[in-house]
Amino acid sequence: MATYEYFCNRCGSFDVKRPIGTASAEEVCPRCSNTARRVYTSPGTAFTSPAVAGLRELEEESRENPAVVTRVPPKEAAPRPTHPAHARLPRP
Ligand SMILES: [Zn+2]
Repeated sequence: MATYEYFCNRCGSFDVKRPIGTASAEEVCPRCSNTARRVYTSPGTAFTSPAVAGLRELEEESRENPAVVTRVPPKEAAPRPTHPAHARLPRP
């Protein structure tokens, strides 16, 4: 199914769902029963959320201008064990 948009001169635009390729050039307006003509719009592609778009931009930026590491980063303190049994494990 595809969503096709029609425009009624009295009521404005409305959508009609039909199988792909079966949309007619004109449709009856569901509100006033006037003849409405089909409006051609861009296909309803999936919306990319701003968070995902931002991550993709970072990925592309990293591909073009990767952050160069010139020395080993400082060693961080190991996290403390959360379970009492972990404290009995051998340590280096
Ligand atoms: Zn109408």
